[in-house]
Amino acid sequence: MNELEAKEKNINFISKRLDFLQTTLRRQYPYAVDYISQITDDDLPTIYAITPTYTRHVQKAELTRLSQTFLHIKNLHWIVVEDSENKTPLVAKFLERSGVVFTHLNTKTPQYYQLGENDPSWLKPRGVEQRNLAIDWLVKNVDANKEPGVVYFADDDNTYDLQIFHEMRNTQTVSVWPVGIVGGLKFERPLVNAEQKVYAWYTAWKPERPFAIDMAGFAINLLLVQQNSEARFDIKAPRGYIESSYLIKIVKMEDLEPKAGLCTKVYVWHTRTEKPKWKQEDILIKQGNPSDPNIEV
Ligand code: UDP
Ligand code: MN
Repeated sequence: MNELEAKEKNINFISKRLDFLQTTLRRQYPYAVDYISQITDDDLPTIYAITPTYTRHVQKAELTRLSQTFLHIKNLHWIVVEDSENKTPLVAKFLERSGVVFTHLNTKTPQYYQLGENDPSWLKPRGVEQRNLAIDWLVKNVDANKEPGVVYFADDDNTYDLQIFHEMRNTQTVSVWPVGIVGGLKFERPLVNAEQKVYAWYTAWKPERPFAIDMAGFAINLLLVQQNSEARFDIKAPRGYIESSYLIKIVKMEDLEPKAGLCTKVYVWHTRTEKPKWKQEDILIKQGNPSDPNIEV
């Protein structure tokens, strides 16, 4: 038998083995095979979705909603960064069974910048050190020249139409689009001229900001993140300037790519989740008789 025949025989063997495994898998988990073959596609850049998150009553609910959106998206790599000294078992276990490709990181926001229990949310920047750590990870662990990618900052409480991931997928520099229910308005959006270039921002608040855009309103080509490997969000930036503090280091307004129907469609909403009523639970805790602590919520 010559070498070619031997190779052919080997391929036949592997192919039969694969068929057998697929059939067996399909018998036990009828939908698994189709699902697994759908989640990756070599021709698509990977979307790296970066989510800062912190322990609170609604955390698991938020992460559930977000992960089940992400399950619909091909080639998505979820970078979850906990705002905590240690990785929590709740998030670690959650990610393991989420079905999403993920990286789990953590870093605690320095004391000075931490929000107090009753502080209004705008008082301090939120999620900044966590997003920066995810950028560190992307700079160190992925090679954008070999594996094209797009970076998106996806907070855990927003609402995402699947379409936004199609819009951002082929971002060359930085792509931008409207965000619904934000900045005290029905929506904010980049304004686009006849040459299809962004020239200003539709916003009620500090329109003079270099990038008057919410974190949910842009995505960045991974190459740009890696080429500007020292650039990070500035936690000391004035209120409203966090997004600008990073974007000014990596892109110019004229290079922005307007998406979502030249910024006329809303595919992401800056929703915020109500803090749940916990009064009865607090009473039970005081009585030393809390709801079953073994039931994770
Ligand atoms: N976040 C965090 N630590 C905090 C507060 C918020 O990691 O102390 C995360 C949060 O889970 C979310 C992101 O940072 O993914 C933005 O926070 P939030 O949604 O509260 O901010 P807002 O919507 O008010 O801008
Ligand atoms: Mn939010």
